[in-house]
Formats: sequence, structure tokens, C-alpha cells
Amino acid sequence: MSSILVFCSVQDGRIKRSSLEAMSRARDVAAASGSSLQAVVLGSSASGLAGEAMKYGAGTVFTVSDPILDAHLNAPVIAALKSVIDHAQPRLVVAASTEAVKDVLGALAVRCDAAVLPDVASFDVSGSTVSCERPVMAAKKLAATSTDHSLVFVSVRSGSYEATEAPVSGTEEAITFSFDADTLGLTLREVVQTAGDTVDLSEANVVVAAGRGVRDEEGRALVQELADITGAAIGASRAVVETGLFPATAQIGQTGKVVSPDLYFAVGISGAIQHVAGMVNSRIIVAINKDADAPIFDVATYGLVGDCFKILPLLNAELKRAMA
Ligand SMILES: Cc1cc2nc3c(=O)[nH]c(=O)nc-3n(C[C@H](O)[C@H](O)[C@H](O)COP(=O)(O)OP(=O)(O)OC[C@H]3O[C@@H](n4cnc5c(N)ncnc54)[C@H](O)[C@@H]3O)c2cc1C
Repeated sequence: MSSILVFCSVQDGRIKRSSLEAMSRARDVAAASGSSLQAVVLGSSASGLAGEAMKYGAGTVFTVSDPILDAHLNAPVIAALKSVIDHAQPRLVVAASTEAVKDVLGALAVRCDAAVLPDVASFDVSGSTVSCERPVMAAKKLAATSTDHSLVFVSVRSGSYEATEAPVSGTEEAITFSFDADTLGLTLREVVQTAGDTVDLSEANVVVAAGRGVRDEEGRALVQELADITGAAIGASRAVVETGLFPATAQIGQTGKVVSPDLYFAVGISGAIQHVAGMVNSRIIVAINKDADAPIFDVATYGLVGDCFKILPLLNAELKRAMA
């Protein structure tokens, strides 16, 4: 029986939500195509996370616990994944489309002679064909792509599927792996963390995103207050990243991050296609904009037409009262 292998990305000692979403879809595809579902977890916490992967349906969890994998350096990650793929011989390898996965996918595919379907919004298997839909042209269109290659890698956009548990009593298989750090040719000196106790944007359940309408420090403070009340991560349009009001790491869109929270507040954002490409998969979108014709209202679930400097103080006060 062929197998589907899911690469579980780990962050802060947990399997990323986007990986669990990809695994939930892979589980359904495996069931429909008569394949077994396997997972791979890398890093010193791998063994402790095998149970989490089984909770989402992985019958076999391959773990590679070498601490050199904790730093997400591409060369050891590629070598470890290649070892697991050579060992498990899957038909299909599925991963969440994270920045780290984007970094290794091409090189890994070359080493394994695999076809790649990157950054897909959906995928399926029918007979020997793996098919997918990929957002293209700033997510304005979906391109249908398929391949009959014997080994296929698929990376899945976060928010494309829901993460649902389906526990199995699986087995963990530790893979022997060694990597000569001297061959790296680079030294990791420091991992720089974002200052403060911030919520990770690409994994957040709630995002408050600010655009040019937020204008200045006063607006930024109102956005921060809404984020604090709702436990949200803060995002931004490119316009306010370019003015320096928000850091580049907050940019959402075609050339920024792709997010898919349950709730997305777009404050003073016009809704240019390059921005919408990064947030259109959000479940509920609340747009606040003083221009009733702003394109953001075309994708919004709820729209508040008005000045955000008047709306946000009222909204924040009401939310505080309701959540007290
Ligand atoms: C190749 C390329 C890549 C790009 N990549 C990205 C990307 O990744 N992410 C991204 O965001 N952009 C990207 N852009 C830029 C994009 O085209 C837009 O210019 C940008 O998204 C606009 O940001 P904005 O909505 O904040 O500003 P604007 O378009 O200027 O809109 C501001 C909005 O705020 C409203 N407003 C003003 N004052 C108030 C107020 N007091 N209260 C309420 N509403 C108010 C206005 O009505 C308006 O709708 C890219 C562009 C190109 C060409």
C-alpha cells in the first residue's frame, strides 16, 4: 500500500496549526485513495510530539531528534527529510506552506527527483494523478495543475483546510541520522526574536491589520488596544510598512505573509489585490473604512463605514465591557 507522508513543522515546542490542517486533509485523501498516513517530526522535541501527530491520524510517526535540526538550517533539514523519504518511500509528501518549507522544498525535490506542487489551496489524489488548485495572479485566479510523477511534494497554504482530530494508536519510528556540522559552511550566531510578547502572525486566530487610514501613533495605539483585547497578532498593509509605522515582519499580502485567522480586522485598508492575496482565506473579515466604495468591502463579512479614529475607541470600549 502506498503512503502519504506529512512533514510537521514545529514552533515553540508545538506542531504548527498549518501542519495539522495539511495533515487533516492528507488523512482524508489517504482514506479515499487506500493509502496509509505517516508523519515526520524533526528536532530535539520530535519524540514528545509524536503523540500529537497520532491524534490527527498518523499511523506511523518518523522522528529525527538530532538537535542540529532545531535551528531550521536548510542543509540538515533537507538531509533529514531525504533520509526519511528514502526510508518511508511515500507516494506523496505533504507540508504546510511555511517560509521554512518554501526554503527547502525545491532543493529537496531535486535530491529526491520529485515533482513539486507548491503553495496550493487544495489537493487530491485520483489513481496515479495528484492534482491541485494554486492561487495565481495575486490570488485572483486558481490554476488547476496535476502530475503523474512517481513522487510528488505538495505544500498547502495555511487556512485551506480545517485541523480536525482523528486519533489513532500509531507507532513512533526513530530514524538514525547524523550530520557533520563542519560541512555547513555557515555559523548560526543568534536567532533574533520579535521584541515583546507578540502573537505569531501566520498562526494567529485573530489578526488586527492596519492600513494607511491608521495614519499615526494615535491610530497605532488604537490598533494595539484592539489587538490586546482580542489576543490578536498585528498585521499591516505595505503602505504603513513603507512609512515605518509598522515593521516589515507585519506585512500581509502578495509580498508579505499569508494569513488565515478565524477573525481578521482590516482597519483603514483599501483592499488592493496585493493585500487581499494574503488575507482572503480568513474566516470572518471585519473591515473598517471611511470610504463605502473601498474594495475591501467586497471581501468583508462585516463592514463598518466610518472614521477608524471614531469607531475604534467605541469598539474597544464595547469589546472590553463584553469580555469583562
Ligand atoms: C508588486 C506589488 C506587491 C505588493 N505587495 C503588497 C503586499 O504584500 N501587501 C500590501 O498590503 N500591499 C502590497 N502592495 C501595495 C498595494 O498595491 C497597495 O498599495 C497597498 O496595499 C495599499 O495599502 P493601504 O490599503 O493601507 O493604503 P491605501 O490604498 O492608501 O488605502 C487606505 C484606506 O484607508 C481608508 N481611510 C483613510 N483614512 C481613514 C480613516 N480615518 N478611517 C477609516 N478608513 C480610512 C481610505 O478610504 C482607504 O481605503 C503591492 C504592490 C505591488 C505593485
